[in-house]
Amino acid sequence: MNFELEDRYLDIQEQARDFAQSITHLAVEADNMSSVHPGILDGLRESGLSRLMVPAAYGGADEKLDPLAICLVREVLMANCCQADSLFAMQGIGSYALSIGASEEQRTQWLPKIASAECLPAFALTEPDSGSDLKSITTEIVSDGDGLCLHGDKSFISNAGAASYYIVFVRDGSGYSLVLVPADASGISVKPTPEILAPHVMGEVTFDKVRIPADARLGDGGDGMNLVLATLAVFRVSVAGAAVGLAEAALHEAVRHTRSREQFGRPLIRLGAVAQMLADCWTEIEMARLLTYHAAYRAGRQSLESVNYSSMAKLGASEMASRVVDRCVQVMGRFGLISDSRIERLYRQARPMRIYEGASEVLRQSIARTLADKVD
Ligand SMILES: Cc1cc2nc3c(=O)[nH]c(=O)nc-3n(C[C@H](O)[C@H](O)[C@H](O)COP(=O)(O)OP(=O)(O)OC[C@H]3O[C@@H](n4cnc5c(N)ncnc54)[C@H](O)[C@@H]3O)c2cc1C
Repeated sequence: MNFELEDRYLDIQEQARDFAQSITHLAVEADNMSSVHPGILDGLRESGLSRLMVPAAYGGADEKLDPLAICLVREVLMANCCQADSLFAMQGIGSYALSIGASEEQRTQWLPKIASAECLPAFALTEPDSGSDLKSITTEIVSDGDGLCLHGDKSFISNAGAASYYIVFVRDGSGYSLVLVPADASGISVKPTPEILAPHVMGEVTFDKVRIPADARLGDGGDGMNLVLATLAVFRVSVAGAAVGLAEAALHEAVRHTRSREQFGRPLIRLGAVAQMLADCWTEIEMARLLTYHAAYRAGRQSLESVNYSSMAKLGASEMASRVVDRCVQVMGRFGLISDSRIERLYRQARPMRIYEGASEVLRQSIARTLADKVD
């Protein structure tokens, strides 16, 4: 067992830090926007980091995606700029089903543009009346002459309006499929999603009898659920990476503040309750980081089988980040509450992580189901 990151991972961390450094001056502005900040997108393109999201055969960095590398990048980006993290993550979440399930023609058309970040993708599962219960979706495809007709509404879709294509989860007869739909297809419209506490590039997408070719399906008809699960198996753990980065950034803010501010004749960090809270934060961050790297390592080897570890890492790290950032705000007193300060942004940005890509309660249910089966 080796707890040291190999040199190639250290290089990737360095690459991510360079990107984060280059956009520091844009972070507050970008994190208040629900549209793509052009400077962040330019930075992402220049960084070359999107190459981590695509197999080497289509312009990517490695033969196949490396979840640990993706976690390490998200750890750095989320600590600095939530929009940068989201844009980076979506390059993979919105293209992985293509990498593993699309025809050669579809891959050749889109994946090199994802690798260079020339194109942004979107992955549309959620609907106004369907969230955690994915199987309750009503968006469907039906045969229409020699092609297909796609009809339905998708909600809270990251990159909607900015994406070049949508991968859409649909009912397909008695099963489910994913279909690839170019964003300029006739019949697609996008409205803004209501603003959330931590602004995010997303929208409400209507597919109004959109005509698509029969080969818009990824894989064989009916493969949709497997492709969604495979995507989650690789990317759910990356939310844990982002959560670890966010929590560590919050802790560093709190340490800097409590070291320099004195009350009762000494720095806050020397007061018992404050010191204990900060020690707990550090301990919890390190525990979450270990589980995250371990789950990412497993996801890189047997992604579907390791989905429980990805779920545990996402659950543990996102819950940890909320606890940590809450304590950090507490020890910073009124200075932790100032709008758009780094700590206040982190406080808001931690919250959605416990809801998207599997709400904590849903993850606990599936982890417990596996546990019940696993123990003799
Ligand atoms: C910032 C952000 C970006 C997003 N981007 C995308 C995107 O790109 N594409 C996309 O398709 N979706 C996206 N979503 C939507 C996201 O996937 C859903 O919010 C998520 O799946 C949860 O669904 P819901 O919000 O409808 O909550 P619901 O399903 O209504 O659940 C509400 C709550 O009920 C509880 N609950 C639900 N089911 C169970 C259960 N079985 N057992 C116990 N408790 C349960 C949980 O506490 C849960 O939080 C995004 C959301 C956010 C916040």
